[in-house]
Amino acid sequence: MATGIELRALSKTYAGAAAPAVDGVDLTVAPGEVFFVLGPSGCGKSTLLRMIAGLVQPTAGAVRFADGAGAAQDVTGLAAERRGVGVVFQSYALWPGMSVERNVGFGLEVGGVPKREARRRVAEALAAVRMEGQGARRPGELSGGQQQRVALARALVVRPRVLLLDEPLSNLDGPLRAELRREVRRVCGESGLTAVYVTHDRQEALSTADRAAVMRSGRIEQVGTPRQLYRAPATRFVAEFLGQACLLEGEVDAADAQSGRLTVRTALGPLVAERAGLDRLRAGAPVTLCLRPEAVALTWGDADRPGGHGGHGGHGGWEGASRIAAVVESITYLGEMTRVGLRASAARGVEGVGGVGGKEGGVALCAALVHPAQEPAEGAQAQVWVRPSDVIVIPG
Ligand code: ADP
Repeated sequence: MATGIELRALSKTYAGAAAPAVDGVDLTVAPGEVFFVLGPSGCGKSTLLRMIAGLVQPTAGAVRFADGAGAAQDVTGLAAERRGVGVVFQSYALWPGMSVERNVGFGLEVGGVPKREARRRVAEALAAVRMEGQGARRPGELSGGQQQRVALARALVVRPRVLLLDEPLSNLDGPLRAELRREVRRVCGESGLTAVYVTHDRQEALSTADRAAVMRSGRIEQVGTPRQLYRAPATRFVAEFLGQACLLEGEVDAADAQSGRLTVRTALGPLVAERAGLDRLRAGAPVTLCLRPEAVALTWGDADRPGGHGGHGGHGGWEGASRIAAVVESITYLGEMTRVGLRASAARGVEGVGGVGGKEGGVALCAALVHPAQEPAEGAQAQVWVRPSDVIVIPG
């Protein structure tokens, strides 16, 4: 049975610090979940993880581990080595003079586990990270990715109830990172382990997490599945942290409770949005709209509807889509796609409604992704199309 983690009003203020590093965090991680803590550098992710590990003592609040049906165990005052956690850090911190086998088994040796059993468990842990047969080698003979596999084996060999990972792949490059994060998922799945994984890399979190918490200045801004966080960010911060976002301030003009559609007045004219729960927003309510580049379609010339390769996963047509007249401002070739920077050609002033992309009253900008073969020319007149279901609405 996997272990759940409960954090209750957990805070940490380091001695002499003006502000708390972690500020009243409440969080429940389900048994067996691969849970990510995502946020910019300095937001308190590592401190949060270290409090779960028992490496940093909280200033206030509680850490509980819940096994099975009984009441959760309060581990707040428990020493790190008695919590049953395995920790993997960014630096592998392997002993260069010891074999892989001894590096992995060192904790067992110190803990007095009998030699034969220790050897069996080390072999098992190395097999779990696909490093079987490599026990006699020295860390210096291994690649960075293999060294991190050894560090993962070392965390697994103690048979932890919880695996804690702090930016474990930051020293590795692209393809290897992707491979190793799949490995982390596989290992957790096969061992029924609960994992908390800290990163500042949104791609890592979006591609690997069951759920994630987005942190900002010591607090949790939102918790959700990758799709919830990306498609329905609760705040501007989450919207911008999770991906490219064009933010557009507006005011609800009309909300139709029946269709779930919402017309929002913006500096670029009215935009229609459609999402469950939106009918709770009343006319006059201030909102921020978020347009993602992949949700925006472009037409130019005499095309009167977006068409072509239309990779929108068969969400149907463009009836009811909002349309904005724009000018192509920049073209950035990305290989598989081209990013088209756009400026609204006629920013219709709406009283009381602010600017676009954070620039008060400034140039309206959003971006679209197109197939390189369908690249428009710089300066071309274009129409920007966005479906109601692709307009992300952030209250406030
Ligand atoms: P993150 O992991 O998101 O980069 P950290 O948890 O490392 O954030 O740091 C959060 C805040 O706490 C930062 O302002 C950092 O400078 C401070 N901090 C971290 N560790 C210590 C420490 N041991 N002593 C004092 N301040 C610390």
